[in-house]
Order: sequence, then structure tokens, then C-alpha cells
Amino acid sequence: MPIDPRAPYDPNNIFARILRGEIPCNRVYEDAFVLAFHDIAPQAPVHVLVIPKAAYVSWDDFSASASAEEIAGFVRAVGHVARELGLVDPGYRMMANVGHDGGQEVPHLHVHLFGGRGLGRMISAG
Ligand code: 5GP
Repeated sequence: MPIDPRAPYDPNNIFARILRGEIPCNRVYEDAFVLAFHDIAPQAPVHVLVIPKAAYVSWDDFSASASAEEIAGFVRAVGHVARELGLVDPGYRMMANVGHDGGQEVPHLHVHLFGGRGLGRMISAG
């Protein structure tokens, strides 16, 4: 079910549990600001999620409330992960779903990185 991006942060959401090590993930990168790991149901040959370590429900929450240091750390890390995965030369897509119409299902901000094949001009609205 899509989430309410303005709801209070749920500390028991699945990505909070991954951050606490309660649920395993296939990690690709970690630093002081982010954890990046492979999506459990990949939609492309490369499908990685980058999440902030701090508790933000969505891009809306993060862009309004995160510190400049957190925002810089997150944006730099997303770019770093894409470079480390070799996605820059062939190209890739980054995406953050927000709320109901965006189809966001996990209420902890995450950026999807897709690559490994031509992705077309846009993701399906289906
Ligand atoms: P959203 O629709 O919220 O933007 O995307 C949530 C993503 O999280 C989906 O692509 C889904 O496959 C992924 N996901 C959900 N649960 C887990 C999990 O336990 N582990 C991993 N690695 N990915 C998950």
C-alpha cells in the first residue's frame, strides 16, 4: 500500500530494520550518511536503493527538514554509488517515489538507481 509521506516516521519500517541489522540486505556501499543495497525485487539488471541513515519518511520530509550536511552527504553518496557500479558511462536512472500517487511503499526515504540496459524515456505509469 502506498504510504502517507507526511505521516510520522515509523521506526519499525523495513528499511529502519535493515539499518539496525535486524533484517539482512545485499549491501553495496555504506558511509556515515547512507546505506546502499540491492533491491529485493529488481526491475532492471542493476537496481540499487540508497537510503539515508537518519529517519526521514520521504523526499518531501528530507528536503524540508534535513541539515545541509545530511543533504550533501546523501546526494554525494548517490552519485558515488552510481559511479562505483559503473553506471555513468552507459547511463542510468535515479528515482524517488513520494506518497500515494508516486507509489511509495516503504516509509523511509530511498532513491532507486536503475541501470544495466536501455531504460526508455520514462518508467511505466502502470
Ligand atoms: P517504493 O515503491 O517504496 O519506492 O520502493 C520500495 C522498494 O523496496 C521496492 O522496489 C521493493 O522491492 C524494495 N524492498 C521492499 N522490501 C525490501 C527488503 O526487505 N529488502 C530489499 N533489499 N528491498 C526491499
